[in-house]
Amino acid sequence: MRINSIYLGSEGEGIWIGTPQIFLRLQGCSLHCSNCDSKESWSFEQGEQLAPTEVVQQVLEMAQTPSGHPIKRLSITGGDPDDPRHLPDLLPLIGQLKRAGFYLHLESSGSRVEHSLFDHLDFISIDYKLPSTGVTTELATLKEMAHHYAGRFQVKSVVESEDDFATLLAVREELPVVDFPWVITPAYNRGEEFPRQRFLTIFQLNLEHGGPFRVIGQQHKWLYGADQLKV
Ligand code: SF4
Repeated sequence: MRINSIYLGSEGEGIWIGTPQIFLRLQGCSLHCSNCDSKESWSFEQGEQLAPTEVVQQVLEMAQTPSGHPIKRLSITGGDPDDPRHLPDLLPLIGQLKRAGFYLHLESSGSRVEHSLFDHLDFISIDYKLPSTGVTTELATLKEMAHHYAGRFQVKSVVESEDDFATLLAVREELPVVDFPWVITPAYNRGEEFPRQRFLTIFQLNLEHGGPFRVIGQQHKWLYGADQLKV
């Protein structure tokens, strides 16, 4: 399988923010969101070619800590882990990691609901893409997640503008029930200084509409800046 990187860090966004875990970043994504902060993971030709057993070995080594208490939580991210090209290697990898006792989290692009993959995961974070990304997520995807994975998923949306926020409100209105965490992440793009005014505007919009979303920024970018990789 094509691997961009494997590294230890803390979850920087969403409802698990601050939780230590190992990140497994797959190499390859064909969606090409315009505000993507990991464009180096797009090519399916780059990265390191490893067998699933080699990935598991690296993860097990990385999980060890000086205290003797290993970190048994792993986030599969990308690239796009939902891309069908990753699936043949991802399924055996997930089986091995589950047998090794890992809690498995997957960062889904929202491009499709792949039950053969999602059924084996502990938690799925699914993107709902907004106009600023240039990519569309089907409303049916959210409905399918709510139907099959209640209590095991969150929806995340990167919000860059008031237009993005208005789109999100309209989408929410179309869902009969929203009983899952829906996180909005104010965009903090590569090359930018911390966009304080964008954050304040989004906090204010959310307040004015009765707080339908949880606004959670990307903690790793506050700490290391928006351009730092593997954090
Ligand atoms: S799905 Fe993720 S990795 Fe792919 S382009 Fe969009 S933000 Fe980047």
